[in-house]
Amino acid sequence: MATRSWLLTVSVLVEQDAELAAKLGPGWRTDDDLQEVVTAALSEFLAKRPDIVVEWQSMTSTPLDGKPAVGRCAVCNCWVYDVENRTDGTPTKINRGAVVDGQYLCDEHLPKDHPVAF
Ligand SMILES: [Zn+2]
Repeated sequence: MATRSWLLTVSVLVEQDAELAAKLGPGWRTDDDLQEVVTAALSEFLAKRPDIVVEWQSMTSTPLDGKPAVGRCAVCNCWVYDVENRTDGTPTKINRGAVVDGQYLCDEHLPKDHPVAF
């Protein structure tokens, strides 16, 4: 039987209120908890496709606060990285953007003549 395989990489932004987190703790106890939830959700989504098997592979977690060339779009508040000033330490699996007049802007809110504008 021939099998085709994909490594599906999905980035999900998880934001947590720091004051509530101090009272409630993290959103999940272990990485295994998160693995179980994500794998179960994908398996359920694909339940009508018996030809597809979902299997967990890995997880990475990247804090965004304080990273170089990372900020929030001044218009829509989404996380962006500055494509013009990124470093090896800049997370790039978030929206692309740039800094204009000292403010981060995502590619959809950059001036239309900006080279990174969408
Ligand atoms: Zn924006």
